[in-house]
Amino acid sequence: IFIPLLGAALAFYFYSAPENFSEEMLRGKRVIVTGASGGIGEQMAYHLARMEAHLLLTARTEAKLQKVVKRCLELGAASARYVSGSMEDTKFPEVVVKEAENTWGGLDMLILNHIGYTYFNYFDGDVGHVRKLLEINFLSYVAMTVSALPLLKESEGSIVVVSSMAGKTSAPFSAPYSATKFALDGFFSSLRQEFIIDKVNVSITLCILGYIDTENAVRAVSHAIRATPAPKEECALEIIKSGALRQRELHYPSSTVGTMLLLQAIAPDFLDSLIRSGYKAENIRRT
Ligand code: NDP
Repeated sequence: IFIPLLGAALAFYFYSAPENFSEEMLRGKRVIVTGASGGIGEQMAYHLARMEAHLLLTARTEAKLQKVVKRCLELGAASARYVSGSMEDTKFPEVVVKEAENTWGGLDMLILNHIGYTYFNYFDGDVGHVRKLLEINFLSYVAMTVSALPLLKESEGSIVVVSSMAGKTSAPFSAPYSATKFALDGFFSSLRQEFIIDKVNVSITLCILGYIDTENAVRAVSHAIRATPAPKEECALEIIKSGALRQRELHYPSSTVGTMLLLQAIAPDFLDSLIRSGYKAENIRRT
């Protein structure tokens, strides 16, 4: 009991969004959200629209993006548009950022959130799949950042990188996904250090999320995970707050993630066994 309580207290102390967040921080800001056709990205778009931000949304499915853009305009977005395409296409990140530059002449916040499809199962030895997932989940984040950096330096803006507990701890049945999320931590944490040394006033916020109730996540893992997912609407708002407040990391839900990270530091083998006990491995059918 003591360790989870201590974890929760520490998580609250270090990572809960300070009370001084105000929705006005986003009013009129120019924001790109990737993976915005569904799930957490769609919810972030709606929050940002209510806060009267300018929005450029992206994902592959044009029909879904059209609906999200329409809803954003109804909710009060200062402006909303989309550009559809796949982050598997190495030229696409530049296309997205060019669209922002041509439309707004600048950019204040880059929210990198999209993920490619992967399986939830024992690693099947398919190296090609790992390579493809790295392209979508990791390398396109790097490419988006490279393209957007001149604009973000000018506005002293923010980069928000959506990651996962699987990018900090050892989660089974998700080896390719987990690898892409660990890569994000390595790359963006190193970049943050360089920005500080180089006096580049662009914040980098890494979002460490637990299980969230998006349609895709629930469909993929609910048969084999004991935990109850946290709400995507609240999660989306916490991500935006953490980016606006230029926090180093967001831990959501804070007590679960905070406890796990504390255990990782002091009792890694115990944490591994705790994580394993959270899965119903008998429900995983080998493919
Ligand atoms: P979803 O699967 O619901 O949404 C993924 C988004 O990415 C969609 O908009 C999808 O749209 C887009 N996308 C998929 N493939 C591509 C592609 N090749 N190129 C461009 N866009 C693509 O994900 P979630 O909302 O559940 O997750 C959002 C973020 O949160 C991810 O980074 C995820 O790792 C992280 N996270 C989620 C957790 C959860 O339990 N939900 C837990 C921990 C972290 P389209 O198909 O139209 O392209």
